[in-house]
Amino acid sequence: MLWVRIGSLNGLMQKRPIGCWGGWLGGEAPSARSIGRVAAGMNVDDLRALLHRHYERRRRNKSLHPVIGTIRPLIFDGHESTSSYLRCCKGCLQRRVTIAEKERTQYYHRYVMAMLLHRDGSLLLDIEPQRPGEGESTAAIRLLERLVARYPRAFDTVVGDNLYLNPDFCRLAAEHGKHFLAVLKDERCGLLVDARGLFECESSVRFESGKKLHQCWDIEGFTTWEQFEYPVRVVRSIETSAVRRRLADEETETVSEWIWATDMPKTAAGTEAIVRIGHARWRIENNGFNELVNEWNADHVYKHEPIAMLVFLLLLLLAYNVFHAFLSLNLKPQLRERHTARHFAKLVAAEFYIPSGDHFT
Ligand SMILES: [Zn+2]
Repeated sequence: MLWVRIGSLNGLMQKRPIGCWGGWLGGEAPSARSIGRVAAGMNVDDLRALLHRHYERRRRNKSLHPVIGTIRPLIFDGHESTSSYLRCCKGCLQRRVTIAEKERTQYYHRYVMAMLLHRDGSLLLDIEPQRPGEGESTAAIRLLERLVARYPRAFDTVVGDNLYLNPDFCRLAAEHGKHFLAVLKDERCGLLVDARGLFECESSVRFESGKKLHQCWDIEGFTTWEQFEYPVRVVRSIETSAVRRRLADEETETVSEWIWATDMPKTAAGTEAIVRIGHARWRIENNGFNELVNEWNADHVYKHEPIAMLVFLLLLLLAYNVFHAFLSLNLKPQLRERHTARHFAKLVAAEFYIPSGDHFT
């Protein structure tokens, strides 16, 4: 169902698999109700063990190269999967929303996902639900604790947006010998004020990446962040790129500013490496959540029950990893360059509908 991107259990019931898919099942597909019931009773650790087994195979066959030098970043981000005013379960988070001057309770689910970046793509390692009454950082800390235990050598740096500049999250990473890299956006910890003061008098370096010009400041040794007992390094990048406006047929310049805080020393990652890893964080939005939602129906609630919802998401992570491993490791590069990932997803789906022996070549 996930590989064929059917998107609902009832949809699966209406499109009974034929051909080799039917053969693999070894009989009639169970009903939508049975699949939902079984999912709600499954052990999520078994599915997490399968994700780990996939990672181990990729590690052993040496298909997970570091992104830059020896750096292996693990990106964290949160995602709200679904919301409703009518249906709720014991795992639902709640908030008050005002619509047409009337306050109502909205129920929703949020998850924190961890994505391992490697030179040729990304691997979705695990996902953790945010529980009622807790924030994203608490769920992220629980996820990081599980990942340092299960994947002790898979990553060396945890990366996140401004929310991950959380002293408890960064300290946990440091205690396990991992670095952190997070967007520095607000003045909550005094770091930004201090850093801005120094940017004025420190010299900058310039480099180009693609069509973008970076002017960067890179200063180590900040001790202003009182809740975090290790020295922090701040990197600022002013990025200028030319954008062609189609209607006016003229080129205009856009300028953006990015600032990151990290405890990675300059000897481990130069300024350019920090900027590249900092921007690589977007991959969890573009290749992670956006692809899972738009191409894999990740926001569909197959069964509104907290364990079943987590089970379908973990299965989805596994399906995503296997599909992308197939694209990058099994397909000939010429074929991969000629078509999009969606094209291959459609070929996989087509196999579901045609009888055995009539496969596409
Ligand atoms: Zn719910």
